[in-house]
Amino acid sequence: MEHSARLNKTVLERYMELLPEGMVQAMYVWIDGTGEGMRCKTKTLDFIPKSVKEIPVWNYDGSSTYQAEGSNSDMYLVPVAMFNDPFRRGDNKLVLCDVYKYDNRPAETNHRKSCNEVMERARVDEPWFGIEQEYTLLSQDGHPFGWPKMGFPGPQGPYYCGVGANKVYGRDVVEAHYRACLYAGVKIAGTNAEVMPAQWEFQVGPCLGISMGDHLWMARFLLQRVAEDFGVTVTFDPKPMEGDWNGAGAHTNYSTKPMREDGGIKHIKDAIVKLSKKHVEHIRLYDPKDGGDNARRLTGKHETSSIHDFSSGVANRGASIRIPRQVGEDGKGYMEDRRPSSNCDPYRVTEAIVRTTVLDDWSDFQ
Ligand code: ADP
Ligand code: MN
Ligand code: MN
Ligand code: MN
Repeated sequence: MEHSARLNKTVLERYMELLPEGMVQAMYVWIDGTGEGMRCKTKTLDFIPKSVKEIPVWNYDGSSTYQAEGSNSDMYLVPVAMFNDPFRRGDNKLVLCDVYKYDNRPAETNHRKSCNEVMERARVDEPWFGIEQEYTLLSQDGHPFGWPKMGFPGPQGPYYCGVGANKVYGRDVVEAHYRACLYAGVKIAGTNAEVMPAQWEFQVGPCLGISMGDHLWMARFLLQRVAEDFGVTVTFDPKPMEGDWNGAGAHTNYSTKPMREDGGIKHIKDAIVKLSKKHVEHIRLYDPKDGGDNARRLTGKHETSSIHDFSSGVANRGASIRIPRQVGEDGKGYMEDRRPSSNCDPYRVTEAIVRTTVLDDWSDFQ
């Protein structure tokens, strides 16, 4: 087990110090047919790309990513966002891509295209998002990292924002990931240890429009890649342990320009009324199984609301939508949608929120 983590990283370093002149390694990154898994492969470029537009379209075998039949398997990778590569460093790049089918239609799990169109239509409202990504570290046997192999850790209480070897498990991964995100240019806002031991959170944002999804997906990629080096795996499952253990979400903090201006609380409350009328539609888009994953998490316990009800309130962590206390006091700011699952597609979530609260339009939703 954990073979790749056991390979000698000091030997690897000698090769990583080689700096081939004029050659750039571009690692293309994309979302596979599960809508949760990520894939990557690398292409040599003989120039240093100044913008993502200079990076060529590429392709891959969609029959190996749950995306196409073997007889007609080529999928197109269209670069959409470029980041610095914290693993290869130098001029090397990570390239987030949109996936298109042979007939130029977006792949079923390419939700970026429609999200981007919606964000363009909502441009004047300047939608900002900040997503809190919760996740759990696992040993390669699928057991939470650092948990006793037989039995369980003590009950929840001491672990959230904890310190000490008996309180938090896997901080090395968290620290490495934080730096990797900063180096890459991912807009990471912070990190904390979560309520369940081996569960952690990082926040990305505030990000304008489409960049929310771009930065969050790249942050997820970096996390899994960093964890690979340590021989640890990451799960974004929203309820990795049944029983009295907290699940994992992707709380989505949201504001528009009017909400951020003086008296903006009025616009926040208007938006919450609109969201209350679309609860079922949103739940369907807040995890990759049309609500099936969140059904395990949104139980009404463990700081969640029930999946069946819509609720909101100031400082209420048992509500669907929370207005942070400070926002209530300032009379402006943002709201927090606590429903999205940790394995949600942020393109779907942000599109849904903007459709409901800004555009008031679901007519062309696909
Ligand atoms: P919590 O108290 O729920 O744990 P966090 O501090 O973890 O909140 O995350 C708050 C998130 O809200 C951050 O990602 C931050 O970028 C985001 N945020 C702050 N202000 C705004 C805003 N005006 N609009 C949208 N997102 C915001
Ligand atoms: Mn948080
Ligand atoms: Mn949290
Ligand atoms: Mn939160």
